[in-house]
Amino acid sequence: MNKTDVLIIGGGAVGVCAAYYLRDAGYEVTLVDRGEIGSGASHGNMGLVVPSHSVPLASPGVVSQGLKWMFKPDSPFYIKPRLDPSLIRWLWAFLKASSEDRMRRAIPLIRDMSLASLALFEELSGLDGVDFDYHQRGVVAVYRTREGLDEGEEERHLLTSYGLEIDALAPDGLAEALPGLELSALGGLHFRQDAHLTPGKFVRSLADYSARAGVTVQPGVEVTGFTRENGRIAVTHTTRGDIAAGEVVLTAGSWSAALGDLAGVSLPIQPAKGYSVTLRRPAGWPETPFMLSESRVAVTPMGDMLRIGGTLELAGMDQTINQRRVAAILNAVPRYLPDFDVGSYEILETWCGLRPCTPDGLPFLGRVPDVRNLVVAAGHAMIGVSLGPVTGKLVLGIIAGERADSDLELGIDLELLAVDRFAA
Ligand SMILES: Cc1cc2nc3c(=O)[nH]c(=O)nc-3n(C[C@H](O)[C@H](O)[C@H](O)COP(=O)(O)OP(=O)(O)OC[C@H]3O[C@@H](n4cnc5c(N)ncnc54)[C@H](O)[C@@H]3O)c2cc1C
Repeated sequence: MNKTDVLIIGGGAVGVCAAYYLRDAGYEVTLVDRGEIGSGASHGNMGLVVPSHSVPLASPGVVSQGLKWMFKPDSPFYIKPRLDPSLIRWLWAFLKASSEDRMRRAIPLIRDMSLASLALFEELSGLDGVDFDYHQRGVVAVYRTREGLDEGEEERHLLTSYGLEIDALAPDGLAEALPGLELSALGGLHFRQDAHLTPGKFVRSLADYSARAGVTVQPGVEVTGFTRENGRIAVTHTTRGDIAAGEVVLTAGSWSAALGDLAGVSLPIQPAKGYSVTLRRPAGWPETPFMLSESRVAVTPMGDMLRIGGTLELAGMDQTINQRRVAAILNAVPRYLPDFDVGSYEILETWCGLRPCTPDGLPFLGRVPDVRNLVVAAGHAMIGVSLGPVTGKLVLGIIAGERADSDLELGIDLELLAVDRFAA
């Protein structure tokens, strides 16, 4: 049987960051993934590091907007109608979490975690041999309707009241922020603190760095079960043999719910599918990412690539690509950029991924009361790349038994992230 201090299950942004910080602190770490490292949601996502996304998915506005969109297959949000008890329980918990009060408790926490991650990304991008096209140029939200602009203005008002730095842009300001693009828009916002990166490169280059630093990185190893003894995981079973670990960290994104069941822990996480299309980057394209706001589509330059993506579809653990929804994303672009003809660019990849969503839009992060050596770090929804580094560092704090946030000076209330918060 293989032995290790810490076994990390899942090599996405969260698992790789946890591996890096634990190894850096001297732990013996094994990181396993059933596929390649970074083959889950962390591969083809939009690569945005976004303090501007500090409003959790569960918020009062989302419920009314979601109801309008819910069953329309080419809208930005879709629920595949089905009688799945776990989905119904999740939706009920989501509705309860979508209150003004709970949203306002969540915003400062997400903001502080995102801002802490920004500083950590700066450090990580300076590591030897680690390169992930990291830039902090902000993200621009583009609005083409009066209704959209009003919504944006409300969001600006809310987020600036929490100290975030956001400029309102008139059309000429937009043109300046996104030089070289012919926009059809009424105005926009510039979320100045946001940053962007190439997520697949981030995960893989940090995993490679960690392997060089001594982490045992094992792709192609699937966890199939656990043997529990005396309130601890004594053995983790995998397709490549058993592992005895002092601590087990579950960072398997949307797959964490099923793995939680195997460990006897309930983790209400619904996978929310999203899509992206990656093109060869057109000549002269600006370096700042932007959102086609009314359509909920993001456009991110990533080195010599350009990625366009969006939609949120609650359709279970289903990774098939629905071309109708891909077309809906691409069709949004010429509404904002009338000259843009997607057919004239080389498509490098069409991808879908599963965002791991908890009912209140906050991740699960912490120890599990009934399984003493299990730490869960999963459920980061739309911001798992953004929160990857800070989550990894907090996992280290939890395992080291320190006040988790002491050296981050975040004053983070980890209670809000408690793994058993939906147990009642
Ligand atoms: C279209 C789209 C756009 C997005 N844009 C952004 C963005 O701009 N910014 C942002 O911050 N976030 C974004 N996200 C969200 C982000 O992708 C996720 O929150 C994040 O990738 C989750 O990371 P993770 O490490 O928790 O999970 P994942 O990356 O999904 O990793 C989980 C890993 O666990 C492995 N695994 C599963 N089961 C097992 C098992 N039994 N044994 C071993 N390994 C297992 C999987 O193979 C996988 O590699 C986007 C998501 C989508 C879909």
